Amino acid sequence: MSAQIPNSDLPRILIIGAGFGGLKLARKLSNKAFQIVLIDRNNYHQFQPLFYQVATAGLAPSAISFPIRKLFHKAKNVHFRVAEALKVDTKAKTLSTDIGDIRYDKLVIATGADTNYYGNEEIKQHSFPMKSTSESLQLRNRILECMELALTEKIEADRSAFMNVAIVGAGPTGVELAGAISEMRTYILPKDYPELDFSEMNIYLLEAGDRILGTMSESASKASHSFLKKMGVQIITNARVTGYKGTSIEMSDLESINTKTLIWSAGVAGNVVAGFDPENILRSRMRIDSHCQVIDQADIYAIGDIAAIEGADHPHGHPQVAQVAMQQADLLAKNFIMTSQGKRAKKFTYQDLGSMATIGRSKAVADLPFLKFSGFFAWIFWLFVHLMNILGVKNKLFIFIEWLWYYLSFDQSLRLVIKQKKSQPED
Ligand SMILES: Cc1cc2nc3c(=O)[nH]c(=O)nc-3n(C[C@H](O)[C@H](O)[C@H](O)COP(=O)(O)OP(=O)(O)OC[C@H]3O[C@@H](n4cnc5c(N)ncnc54)[C@H](O)[C@@H]3O)c2cc1C
Repeated sequence: MSAQIPNSDLPRILIIGAGFGGLKLARKLSNKAFQIVLIDRNNYHQFQPLFYQVATAGLAPSAISFPIRKLFHKAKNVHFRVAEALKVDTKAKTLSTDIGDIRYDKLVIATGADTNYYGNEEIKQHSFPMKSTSESLQLRNRILECMELALTEKIEADRSAFMNVAIVGAGPTGVELAGAISEMRTYILPKDYPELDFSEMNIYLLEAGDRILGTMSESASKASHSFLKKMGVQIITNARVTGYKGTSIEMSDLESINTKTLIWSAGVAGNVVAGFDPENILRSRMRIDSHCQVIDQADIYAIGDIAAIEGADHPHGHPQVAQVAMQQADLLAKNFIMTSQGKRAKKFTYQDLGSMATIGRSKAVADLPFLKFSGFFAWIFWLFVHLMNILGVKNKLFIFIEWLWYYLSFDQSLRLVIKQKKSQPED
């Protein structure tokens, strides 16, 4: 098999990953004097901040996914391939992939991060992650399937285990999920399952640290804690989950919790591509310098969640958020253009635009550089920022209508359990 990239006299920049960083870089370099080869294991870009709405039946997967090819209709110098990056040969300057080897002049690794189970295989096997559109769909299936199973369960404790949901990790993802599932319990599920008693359903948010939203301000943490408590979410801090075989969550020094749905949002690890020395890697992220070049690796760069610039105020790298990936992509595009014209490359400085988390249909917390606020106006601000960042006018419009519909009707229409058919044709 061969990737069949056309020959070109232009220097070839190979970008692995069409997430926030890789996609932005490819778009910035489209129709410039480079040949861009962009690869991703999927043929669509995923808007990860709204995964939780797919998982809780609020949005269709197509609303937060964008076909990559569509973005490059007018870009003559960009060649996209659906491929899995396997190993970099830094001497031969080639990347091996599942569709063959691809040569590069410059390589940019923008592979993002995946769920980190910290080596606990048991939890990995039985819990639900939410790091891709397909995982979000699987989670939606699970929550709904468990309600169906609860209907057929006579023993109260077992029924409750089907209905209970536990989320491990109270960062923005865990907090947003807890709020959305709590709203399903209040507004949606009792209408769909009138035979079930929803006082039997518990939603647990388990956090190993001593407060939720630990990376945000104290005030954001307190406000979100109080919002979630009012919504009936049981928040347990200093909860260190040690084991889970599919029914009972074991925690050190705490009573176990019974649930058939454990959502793991407690950590991420970079999608490291093989072929590098251990010195190139810092806690599963590529060590890069302030020009985003992998340390001691000429012509190899890394951006976004997979990359880490060690600095005094961020010893393990910048936060793994979309803004860092996009700002690094911007800088790298400018630097490639400037150095090709004989000019000097610029250094990366992160401009922190703040962080936010939403809790249910009308509350959010926002930490902006000069202002921290929470409640309804923070939620309106959250809606605006997310709508602006979604790719494509159709997706923006579609999401806006879905949100408006839900806000007015207290109803979502996507409660489908979509499963794969057992026998699929072979390739
Ligand atoms: C549930 C959730 C909610 C989030 N909410 C927010 C938020 O509200 N605000 C915020 O700023 N950030 C948020 N983030 C973090 C944000 O999504 C990431 O920081 C951002 O996506 C990083 O961009 P990236 O380009 O580095 O990687 P990604 O966007 O993850 O893109 C990586 C790409 O590489 C591809 N890839 C990976 N490995 C391979 C391989 N071996 N071969 C081929 N392709 C590969 C993947 O398919 C993917 O398309 C959230 C993340 C999650 C999971």
